[in-house]
Parts: sequence; structure tokens; C-alpha cells
Amino acid sequence: MIPKNIIVHHTASARDTTTVQAVDRYHRDKDWGGGARIPKSSLGWYVAYHYFIEVTGAVTQCADDSEIRWHAAERNIDSLGICLAGWFDDGHDTLPTPAQVKSLTELLKFKSKQYSIPASQIYPHRKFANKTCYGLHMGDDWAANLIRTPYNQITDPKFLKRYKADQIVKLPDGKIVLKKGVVPIAGTTKVIYQ
Ligand SMILES: [Zn+2]
Repeated sequence: MIPKNIIVHHTASARDTTTVQAVDRYHRDKDWGGGARIPKSSLGWYVAYHYFIEVTGAVTQCADDSEIRWHAAERNIDSLGICLAGWFDDGHDTLPTPAQVKSLTELLKFKSKQYSIPASQIYPHRKFANKTCYGLHMGDDWAANLIRTPYNQITDPKFLKRYKADQIVKLPDGKIVLKKGVVPIAGTTKVIYQ
């Protein structure tokens, strides 16, 4: 298949201990329904995603992009799956690490360019399933926003001080956004006017 969408996941397990090998064993031994077993990918992994990003930011490619993997039901047929180790819901890991966000951003940029996938076709898994995946701490646009190129960055310290922001950017669609810190995460980016 030629990917048309990118679907981002979390493992819904502890960020620090969920290695790609642990997910490989879990997916290998799992009953996927009615005794179904996931086939091993051409790269030798049972992992259901194409890419896996560990807490350190290490990225493992677990399947060729052309292979259909088992991460998003009916959307498997035209979607790449990228999974972050962690559980980004209330009562669990708070957020992906900066290293994970950096790796995810680079991977999303690379794959979106390679297959001409626009940011608007980068989704959290929950868009297609009755799940919270990739975790409710990040908004639906969080992953997509990682590759939206801001322009016209406002760096005037007077503005930054006035809005208590580290960065003010104007997005291509004309929205002005206010950011605290360098990592755009839920609750720290808001539209101040349009
Ligand atoms: Zn998921």
C-alpha cells in the first residue's frame, strides 16, 4: 500500500519500561480476536505499528511502509502507524518526553514529505476508534501541529512579556498562537485571536 494517512498511538503502558521488544512479545502472543495472530513483518517484527518510539527517542522501524499492519482496524489499509511508548491519560505518564516529541516530529516530517501526506491527514488513533489513544493530554491536532510550519514568528520581547509566552507564531491559516516552552503540548498552546 501507499500510505495516505498517518495514525499516531500511545502504548497505554508505562513509558519507561515499554521497549519495542516488550511490545513485540506482547503483540506476538496476543489473540487478536477469534484466535487471529498478527503476521511477522518483512523486517522480522510482530509489532503492529510501522514505527515505535521509545522513551529515549529511539525510533525502530518495525515494518516496511508498504505493509499493512494491525493498528487501526479499517484504516489499516492506507495508514502508517507510529506508536509512542507511554500512557498519556490522567493518572498515568504525563506527556511524551522531549526526545520522543523530537523523534516523532522528524519522522512525521519525513513521511509526510515522502508520501505527500498533509498535516490534516495525521490523526490520533481515537479519531477512528472508541479509545483515548494517543492520550487525552494531547489535543486532536497535537501530532499534526508538529509539522505545521509556522511563519512570521514574533520575537519582540515586549509582546512575549505581555502575553507571558516564549514564542508567538502566526500559522499558515492566519491563526496567531501563543506558545510556552519549545514543545507544543496540550494546554500550553492557545489561539489568542484569529
Ligand atoms: Zn492506538
